[in-house]
Amino acid sequence: MNDFRPIFGRCQCGTVRFRVDAPAQEMYHCHCSMCRRCHGTLFATYATARREHVVVEQGSDNLETYDSSPDVHRQFCRTCGCHLLLNDDRWPHLQWFTPGTLEEGAHPGHPKDTEKHIFVASKMPWHTLADGLPQFEGFQEDV
Ligand SMILES: [Zn+2]
Ligand SMILES: [Zn+2]
Repeated sequence: MNDFRPIFGRCQCGTVRFRVDAPAQEMYHCHCSMCRRCHGTLFATYATARREHVVVEQGSDNLETYDSSPDVHRQFCRTCGCHLLLNDDRWPHLQWFTPGTLEEGAHPGHPKDTEKHIFVASKMPWHTLADGLPQFEGFQEDV
C-alpha cells in the first residue's frame, strides 16, 4: 500500500496509545483457549507488523505483561484491561497488535488473503464460523 499512512490505536480508557507505521503483514482470528480466556471472547483478532513499525506513544508504563506460555507475552492496560500487544519470542522481529483497538474506521492494511481463522480445533463447538475465511486447525495447518 503506497498510500499507507500511520494508524493509531488505544485502550478503552485512553491511557495507552500506539502507532503502526506500516501495513500489517497479516491478520488472523485465533480461537485457542489462551486467547479466548485472556480476551474473554470467542476468539481474539491479531495483526502482525515488524516490531520497529509499532510504537507505543503513550502509557507504556501502564502496560502489564502476562506470559500465557513461556514464549508468549501479552500486554494489556493495567487500568482498563484492554489487550493491545503481543510478543512471541519465536518470532522476535514481529509485533502483534489488536486491530479491534484501532481508531474508528482504521484499516490495518494487511493483504485481504492473509486473513484467516487459526486454532479452530480449540473453537467453542457451538460457535459457527460463516464469514468464508480460511480455517486452520492449528497455527497454519489446513483443516
Ligand atoms: Zn486503558
Ligand atoms: Zn491464540
